[in-house]
Amino acid sequence: MTVTTDLVSYEDALASYDPVMGLEVHVELGTKTKMFCGCSTTLGADANSQTCPTCLGLPGSLPVVNAIGVESAIKIGLALNCSIAEWCRFARKNYFYPDMPKNFQTSQYDEPIAFDGYLDVQLEDGEVFRVEIERAHMEEDTGKSTHVGGATGRIHGASHSLLDYNRAGIPLIEIVTKPIEGAGERAPEVAKAYVAELREVIKSLDVSEARMDKGQMRCDVNLSLRPNGTKEFGTRSETKNVNSLRSVERAARFEIQRHAAVLSSGGTIVQETRHFHEDDGSTTSGRIKDNAEDYRYFPEPDLVPVAPAREWVEELRAGLPEMPRVRRNRLREEWGVTEHDMQSMLNAGAVDPIVATIDAGAPADQARKWWMGELARNANEQGKALDELSITPEQVARVTALVAAGDLNDKLARQVIEGVLAGEGDPDAVVEKRGLKVVSDEGALTAAVEEAIAGNQAIADKIRGGKVAAAGALVGAVMKATRGQADAARVKELILEKLGVEG
Ligand code: ADP
Ligand code: MG
Ligand code: ZN
Repeated sequence: MTVTTDLVSYEDALASYDPVMGLEVHVELGTKTKMFCGCSTTLGADANSQTCPTCLGLPGSLPVVNAIGVESAIKIGLALNCSIAEWCRFARKNYFYPDMPKNFQTSQYDEPIAFDGYLDVQLEDGEVFRVEIERAHMEEDTGKSTHVGGATGRIHGASHSLLDYNRAGIPLIEIVTKPIEGAGERAPEVAKAYVAELREVIKSLDVSEARMDKGQMRCDVNLSLRPNGTKEFGTRSETKNVNSLRSVERAARFEIQRHAAVLSSGGTIVQETRHFHEDDGSTTSGRIKDNAEDYRYFPEPDLVPVAPAREWVEELRAGLPEMPRVRRNRLREEWGVTEHDMQSMLNAGAVDPIVATIDAGAPADQARKWWMGELARNANEQGKALDELSITPEQVARVTALVAAGDLNDKLARQVIEGVLAGEGDPDAVVEKRGLKVVSDEGALTAAVEEAIAGNQAIADKIRGGKVAAAGALVGAVMKATRGQADAARVKELILEKLGVEG
């Protein structure tokens, strides 16, 4: 960025000011069709191929509510400990923007489907911080503009813009927190932990993949400062569309430092939206947004009110999965690992693959070892997520079974995994094709041992003379000769036996 912004150090900012945050998270639901019409939501289709009169806002078209959209909203509301409205309506949020063909967004205003909840998030030091939820409401996404001809891809400097309405009408749930107070210096950490936990919750409900890198989940970070010890909120800035966990944390941190610089030099914060910049973690001014902004909301006359039956809500509540934090704590105890190790597994996206591998019959420690070791390394190298690797939990479990049966040692197991990842087939097929079995045939082993002794007389003499530690070199020679396919412990036994030394 060329814009330089005055900042004070994070420590100095916190010495004088207390941050208050508000997080607005948009989640794109994974429904097959759009929120108010039957158009497909599949990504990657040709521009404007997934549109109809309703999502193009043509006169005379009528919307119909997607039942799965409502069901997903209720599930999210319940998982966030919200009350579910007995009766609520959609509202028109009126404004003009080219990527919104109806000239209004169908949203919810003063009657959200879910309200007054909370989400407990665990911080790095293990402390649990409760974030209160104001509301979760249903709305629709806009289309997508592509500004062509400028240097930045922004509208400024562009010669023309292209519009794709495939995304117009895809269901969104917006989840808004109450002002988050009392986080102090941990405000950026709380913001990140909240979005991370929310994402886990959404994924566990199976209502969205909630991938931030794909824009399926994005966060607006509202932040204000007030002098330490005071109650009244300061003026907030709203950093829009932050799209990674790390960026949420950085945006909050940057805004704390920027607000503090403005306030401590006697300036005033303007209520505005801001853009976050990944490259240097800064934010720059967007549009001024005062509270008088008027969208002329009014109830949507073309849609019936949503009045979810209590029996349905209770049925959905009863069907909720174990919540991620509870599940994590349960697994942490079952596996006997530390908070820190659990966090690493979570960050690596390894918990679900590990559980699936255990379910497929692998011992827990082995499942953890492979997913957090060899497979994490591979995923890293390929720039993939663990669940995108071309190996299944069942295949990993099979490898651990071959190791347990003594058919493979760790070194061979790594080669088997490498083969599976390279598309050579199931573990057994890779073992077969690559000829990767532990050499347990005593005759073959004895021959290899004798050969190693014959070729390394000096070392053999040392061992005979009592330097048992020197046996390592001979074991190495045998392993090399058998291309790693011997059981190293048995090789050592044989060497000592041959040389007439006690192990
Ligand atoms: P808008 O529609 O302008 O984005 P909302 O009320 O929907 O406003 O959301 C604002 C978010 O910011 C909410 O999470 C709210 O709790 C939070 N918030 C409101 N006032 C402040 C403030 N002064 N400082 C920090 N956060 C605030
Ligand atoms: Mg907002
Ligand atoms: Zn449509």
